Amino acid sequence: MADTNGGLEIPSCDVCGKPAVIEQAYSGRILCGEHLAKSIRKKVAKELRKQLILRKGEHTTIFVAISGGKDSAALLELLVDIIGVRPDVTIIAGTVDEGIDGYRPPSLQCAIDLCNDLGVEFVTISYKDLGFEEMDTVAKLIPGMTAANPSAPSMPCSYCGVFRRQGINHLAKKVNADVMALGHNLDDMAQTVLMNMSNGDLERTLRLAPHTNTPIDGLPPRIVPLRWIPEQEVHLYAVHKNLPIHHEECPHARGALRWRHREMVAMMEADVPGTRHGLVRMADNVKDLRNQIVELGGHESRPSPPQECPVCGSMTSNDQCKACEMREMVKNELAN
Ligand code: SF4
Ligand SMILES: [Zn+2]
Ligand SMILES: [Zn+2]
Repeated sequence: MADTNGGLEIPSCDVCGKPAVIEQAYSGRILCGEHLAKSIRKKVAKELRKQLILRKGEHTTIFVAISGGKDSAALLELLVDIIGVRPDVTIIAGTVDEGIDGYRPPSLQCAIDLCNDLGVEFVTISYKDLGFEEMDTVAKLIPGMTAANPSAPSMPCSYCGVFRRQGINHLAKKVNADVMALGHNLDDMAQTVLMNMSNGDLERTLRLAPHTNTPIDGLPPRIVPLRWIPEQEVHLYAVHKNLPIHHEECPHARGALRWRHREMVAMMEADVPGTRHGLVRMADNVKDLRNQIVELGGHESRPSPPQECPVCGSMTSNDQCKACEMREMVKNELAN
């Protein structure tokens, strides 16, 4: 039975008949908040069994990178729910403080509240602690940097992505993590696959998480248990579970290349439901193909094996890592 609301029909859940919150065009299912949450938990538990290999008699520490936003909040809540009681698993969460006024302080508080609610240990580190300038400063210096060096990235996120990655790696190392869990949803993954493919970037496609069977660059393998859950559904889940989440967007986000890919993927999905799943499956197929070739004794298509950055010691395929190169660029501009 469908509910009516001032003449507008609200579709009803195909399990229990209650008013639905979502109609999944890609699956044909119609679900209420509770049954959506159940189906998400089931999908994530299944994906987790594939991505996270817990060895008998060994303890596993999972570092969960959380931002205060919905995706990583849902991820942490689900991980605690699904494997939190296991005595052989420790879950620790952490946030990198980029130094973004108006955005980071309230979202950091959400991250802390979430960890308190879930009884999870929380760690944090700032760009300043890592030797980087705060993002608000970096954003101000960009016009000068691009004027001095035309190949310097012109978008704040290009710097921030590189710096945050170092921060997350630092925290994971600090807590002795065996595995790192990231909150990427289906839309994020599909956008990344499309971005890499439009760049012809096979290397990045091959390095895309999850890394269950192929640890990369000497870092703990990264897992992405939400990778089949659409962004909208992760949001509904976080709201349904009443998780403390920060809704506002980073003031530097606008204009990033990802935004255009976000629109493109949304358009393609609206035209042909299931496109996002298809893009992510495509990347999986490419990775499988590589693994088959390697098993057959073929050459890996990776160019030079990564080596340690002489400045910070993180793994890089260049003489110096990207983070150190950018740190220097920002320092030079600041000194000018
Ligand atoms: S939107 Fe860009 S600048 Fe803002 S936190 Fe994310 S990566 Fe950093
Ligand atoms: Zn229902
Ligand atoms: Zn370095």
